[in-house]
Amino acid sequence: MPFYIDSHCLDGLKEFAVSEGMEKFRGEQIYKWIHHSGCEDIAGMTNLPNSVREKLAEKVKFTVMDPVKVQRSAQDGSVKVLFRLEDGEHIESVILSDGTRMTACISSQVGCRMGCAFCSTAAMGLKRNLTVGEILKQVKRLNGILAESDDRLNNIVFMGMGEPLDNIDNVLEAITVLLDDNGYGFSHKKITLSTCGVAENIEKLFKIKTPVNLAVSINASTQEQRKSIMPVSAKYPLSDLMKVLKNLPLQKRKSITIEYVLLKGINDSMKDADNLVKLLKGLDKVKVNLILYNSGADEKYQAPEEKDALKFQQYLINNRIGVFIRKSLGSDIDGACGQLRARHEKNL
Ligand code: SF4
Repeated sequence: MPFYIDSHCLDGLKEFAVSEGMEKFRGEQIYKWIHHSGCEDIAGMTNLPNSVREKLAEKVKFTVMDPVKVQRSAQDGSVKVLFRLEDGEHIESVILSDGTRMTACISSQVGCRMGCAFCSTAAMGLKRNLTVGEILKQVKRLNGILAESDDRLNNIVFMGMGEPLDNIDNVLEAITVLLDDNGYGFSHKKITLSTCGVAENIEKLFKIKTPVNLAVSINASTQEQRKSIMPVSAKYPLSDLMKVLKNLPLQKRKSITIEYVLLKGINDSMKDADNLVKLLKGLDKVKVNLILYNSGADEKYQAPEEKDALKFQQYLINNRIGVFIRKSLGSDIDGACGQLRARHEKNL
């Protein structure tokens, strides 16, 4: 198994340096070259002695992440990229542009095993977890695309393909590098991890005090409804999930975001709005993102009527819940997760 040198945090590279008979600080130098300077070539690591560079060049590999399709939205400046990985698998990442901020929506797995009925990634099943290097390289490649227009990423959301808490070790190691000033240098306020509700790993996340933002996809107002569209709810029932969320030791000025994809005729009634209000009672620091469903190719589900979405929102506001309607950005470029990859595979 080759050693992927860009798939490790600082501690991992220090350990590697020592195991190769080098001093620890060489690991630190390599780390900065890769994760701070974006170096993808051992020869370019000019403060390493030639003998070390020669040895490393023979021994290590860099993560492969080749863009095979880039779609740019004519509507809102969003960019969706389909990447080919070394083993021939494909993942997708998106730059979401709201005019002022650039947000990277990145993947954590090839496919996903959570089976959400409204998600095109679910149909692929889980192929494998992404490595730390593959998670980080999406950010690097997207920044590279933005650099062409003198721009760069402001935020990162783990909302692409896969359930990040189903690949928690690699995701956490990647987040360590993203947050590190000698790595990517993102503020903890700018990184959001979105989960479909893998309750035990939400607790783990808070136990190890990863200071990123948490978003939880609820998408239903009752257990029965949720189980019918999100099989994860059979293992982690809605009431248990809410209990976990209500007991999380939230840091000052942090809140939990509840995501709720509005599906026409499924979960967008006023009864649903009322159930949701009741569900969120006792969750003090909460805001709700209502997401208008972005129809995929099969059109099994539809976006809600705008007037129904606004009524839903108003009901939450009347009950003093902070709520925003998030329009799906990039709807002209297969904006929902898994759609570009699904379409690419059909065309192969
Ligand atoms: S919505 Fe997220 S968790 Fe659910 S199947 Fe799709 S990728 Fe997986």
